Amino acid sequence: MKHFPIFLAVEGRRIVLSGGGEAALAKLRLLRKTEAHLTVFARHPAPEIEQWAAEGNLRLVRRAFQPGDALCAVLFYAADEDTVEDARTSALARADGALVNIVDNLMDSQFITPAIVDRDPVTVAIGTEGAAPVLARAIKADLEARLPATLGPLARIGKAFRKAADVLPMGRRRRDFWADYYFNTGPRAMDQGGEDHVKTALQASLEKHQNEHPREGHVAFVGAGPGDPELLTLKARKALDTADVVIHDRLVTPEILELARREAILIDAGKEGFGASMSQEAINALIVEHAAAGAQVVRLKGGDPTVFGRLDEEIEAVTASGISWHVVPGITAASASVASIGQSLTKRGRNASVRFLTGHDMKGFADHDWHALARPGEVAAIYMGKKSARFIQGRLIMHGADRATPVTVIENVSRPDQRVLATTLDRLPADLTEADLTGPALTFLGLSPRAAEAQLDHSKQELA
Ligand code: SAH
Repeated sequence: MKHFPIFLAVEGRRIVLSGGGEAALAKLRLLRKTEAHLTVFARHPAPEIEQWAAEGNLRLVRRAFQPGDALCAVLFYAADEDTVEDARTSALARADGALVNIVDNLMDSQFITPAIVDRDPVTVAIGTEGAAPVLARAIKADLEARLPATLGPLARIGKAFRKAADVLPMGRRRRDFWADYYFNTGPRAMDQGGEDHVKTALQASLEKHQNEHPREGHVAFVGAGPGDPELLTLKARKALDTADVVIHDRLVTPEILELARREAILIDAGKEGFGASMSQEAINALIVEHAAAGAQVVRLKGGDPTVFGRLDEEIEAVTASGISWHVVPGITAASASVASIGQSLTKRGRNASVRFLTGHDMKGFADHDWHALARPGEVAAIYMGKKSARFIQGRLIMHGADRATPVTVIENVSRPDQRVLATTLDRLPADLTEADLTGPALTFLGLSPRAAEAQLDHSKQELA
């Protein structure tokens, strides 16, 4: 960019022009639109210039330009269409401190005048740095045709109304109001009844926007729990009640989706353990797209969104788009599973810590601290562990785990079709294959159902 476009404040300032012919006239036609004080130096001014001077639109001095004539002027135009005279006047004007333009002499000019589309106060300046005046004129013609003539008056009325519109909070609501004015209310009112009508319409529109409370888009990452609708938190219910869009996992049951607001759009963004049906990037984009459009989005995840839910990636995508969010925790499958077998996740004297493991990760079967897990009394909740059962069994036994360690698999926990499979480490893979689990299942290492445990104790006592 060899020329930097700016809009120069010329109201009440001096603009001086030397010349009285065609070139001078062309420039003066433009300059007359400004609120600058114009002075023209010309020994033989064209009749239009005489007339404009008579009407008091400019000051006409019927002599050649002299040193000091451009003092205090912001701009000077050398428009005598005479190379020698233009060089003389422009040098003098420069000495007076004015920015100088020589008509049709790009090289020696300090500024150039763009092609202008005038919808005052909206002005479009088009420049090609002298490369293609034809192009500039074509663009100008195109814009002239496209921008309605009423744009100027609309902008002028709008400008006068800016202060009044400040009652709306800055940001989206104020932007919405102005967009509504320029693209709907304004042009319509102008068509119906001219400028006065526009002013009335603007006031009415402001009142309407003031009373409206259009909500910003927001994302709630909500835990749906293990499946039983009664295991939803009150906050989850509330979020579903007000949702515009619910984007849910495959783990979320139809009974829970039933609770979403009637008008809500339900989107299944289900992913299956191996091979995603919708990529994480696509899910992120989907969430952002809806929230950015102003929707209250509920990202509904089975169990607790903070447990093996790829929550962080989604939060990052939402944050990057400047969208607000919050997390509503849910009951994770491990909590519901221990509840269903009457056990605790931790127990004094047995285990002071509990691990949540995933059976596989992005790369395949997941590796863990097998050595620690093989110790007696350890308790671990294995999520997504169906396919990796044999792998886990092998690793644990290799690291010295007792083959008789209790293992409990709970399928469809909290749902009507819940099944509990109590087994031991050495029998685990075979039992899983036989059970033919089709629903989500959680595997507990180191726990057996309390009832079975009691029976076991009982038989021990009998034996003793
Ligand atoms: N965020 C979820 C876990 C998602 S990972 C939560 O907190 O529960 C998916 C795994 O969770 C499944 O492979 C399964 O191991 C477990 N899971 C989820 N819902 C379950 C259910 N109703 N019954 C048993 N296991 C479940």
